[in-house]
Amino acid sequence: MLILVVNCGSSSIKYQVRDTNFDNDDQAVITKGLIENIGVDLPDHDAALEIMAEKLDEALGDREIEAVGHRVVHGGERFSEPVLVNNEIIRAIERLAPLAPLHNPAHAKGLRAVARKWPSLPQVVVFDTAFHRTMPEHVWRYAVPEEFYTLHGIRRYGFHGTSHDYVTGIAAELLGIDRSEFNAVIAHLGNGASVTAIKEGKSVDTSMGYTPLAGLVMGTRSGDIDPSVLTSFMERNPEVSAADMNRILNNESGLLAIAGSNDMRKVVEAKESGDSRAQLALDMTAYRLAKYIGGYHVAVGGMQALVFTAGIGENSAEFRALAVEQLGALGIKIDPELNAIRSDEPRVISTEDSLVKVLVVPTNEEKAIALATKDVVNQIWPDRG
Ligand code: ADP
Repeated sequence: MLILVVNCGSSSIKYQVRDTNFDNDDQAVITKGLIENIGVDLPDHDAALEIMAEKLDEALGDREIEAVGHRVVHGGERFSEPVLVNNEIIRAIERLAPLAPLHNPAHAKGLRAVARKWPSLPQVVVFDTAFHRTMPEHVWRYAVPEEFYTLHGIRRYGFHGTSHDYVTGIAAELLGIDRSEFNAVIAHLGNGASVTAIKEGKSVDTSMGYTPLAGLVMGTRSGDIDPSVLTSFMERNPEVSAADMNRILNNESGLLAIAGSNDMRKVVEAKESGDSRAQLALDMTAYRLAKYIGGYHVAVGGMQALVFTAGIGENSAEFRALAVEQLGALGIKIDPELNAIRSDEPRVISTEDSLVKVLVVPTNEEKAIALATKDVVNQIWPDRG
């Protein structure tokens, strides 16, 4: 099936056309691209789609797209799996805007623009939060007055679900373990980073919370912080607004604040040339991750595997080594030679005698969205192939 995978932001649309008959990207990705400057050079998402449609016509010739899969950041409490889009679903995504003000309204615009342009194409939405809907209430509730949750929907949701789900499946397969019996900890380490506790193949805890700010030290995000830091800082600096605090913690913190760069490659290079700020940033980031891994080892009743994925997890042997170094108490050891190998394939990098397998599994959110879209379409119209 030929699937158009799109990620509609407020000012851009990222797209990829995939043929689900093929497994690896070399064959599966028919074309991809990015349309930018919506709201600047282009008036709206409809105008951006016109440009995308021209590019698709050029790239696809007489082949036709059969369905569209959209990445949607927030599915709130309602969505626990991918669904076929209709007007009511688009309105539901829009109603979740208070939980994802930068993303959900843009997704809704993209969904409507596609429906106008190609009214007969089935559209499927795949939510970043959905995989974490299996977390139990004692995990997702915050210990604050009840109306935070009942009136405002303030609870932990978790993100990166499409990636955590996909990587869990590949890791279980690689180890020959039935997914329903697979306990693991997945570390998705990109610009945004989160760890998920997988018990019997499902998410039972994850480090991001109400928003993607919680948990690990990230490129520009602080991760976990004592909330009194905010109130205290704002009391001392009355000119600092909630929006300022949001910007500081989301865009000006993390590796960037400590090491002066949010690019892991640069931070590792700086550390190697003796930069003490880079050293501190790496120590903080690796320590926070190791604490979460230790905690989630308990949460899943003993992990069979620790899995690294995304930009840093897949590519930074140095960072993987720094994090695993701290897990000696759990009997986890990586083999330096296996760790140093660069590859696009899922692989084991632990020593023979490590008590837990350590894996590197490349994530592929576009592929996961395409496959999920195909599944939904096939369930509804089994004869579409
Ligand atoms: P996003 O969350 O934007 O999808 P990615 O998954 O692409 O992010 O990850 C981006 C991060 O991966 C950056 O911090 C970048 O420095 C890091 N990264 C990419 N390649 C390498 C590499 N070869 N070595 C170390 N870090 C890398």
